[in-house]
Formats: sequence, structure tokens, C-alpha cells
Amino acid sequence: MFQFILLATVIYILYKWLRHSAPQSRPPRTVDPPPQTAGQVEEMLQDPVCGTWVPVSQALSMQHGKETIHFCSAECRDKFLKIQAESKH
Ligand SMILES: [Zn+2]
Repeated sequence: MFQFILLATVIYILYKWLRHSAPQSRPPRTVDPPPQTAGQVEEMLQDPVCGTWVPVSQALSMQHGKETIHFCSAECRDKFLKIQAESKH
């Protein structure tokens, strides 16, 4: 029994370590996504305008330069475009 617990602990540590050391393809996030409810495995994306976390299937994505930005609604996308246009002055 003790060996089983030890093995489980080792696997858990390895899993955490692998996750932690995995190369990050995305820019670092400033805010952690909200805790996921059980059974929900969908990736959450943050709207840079209002800060809302939206499931990837419901996010409105837009290519901006080299990065893809995800919004909760067309309203936020328009706001973002407006901010971008204004900041170019
Ligand atoms: Zn939004």
C-alpha cells in the first residue's frame, strides 16, 4: 500500500514538473483563468478589452499582426480596433 502511495506521488510530481517545464507557446497571462467546473475541458481565452474569460468555441478571434486575439463579443472587438486606431496617433 505504501508503495502505491509513493508511486502515485512520484507520478503526480512528474506530471506537475512536465506541465511546468513545457515550453510556452502563448504569451504569459497576467490573470489566471477562473477555476474550471468538473467535466469542462474547454480552453478559456481572455478578452483583452473587458477581461472576460470566454470558452474558445464562443470566442470571437481576430488576427492582429502576428497574434490572434480573442474577444467575448463583436462589441469588444470594435472597441479594441478603436483603441488601436487611436494609439497610432
Ligand atoms: Zn469583452
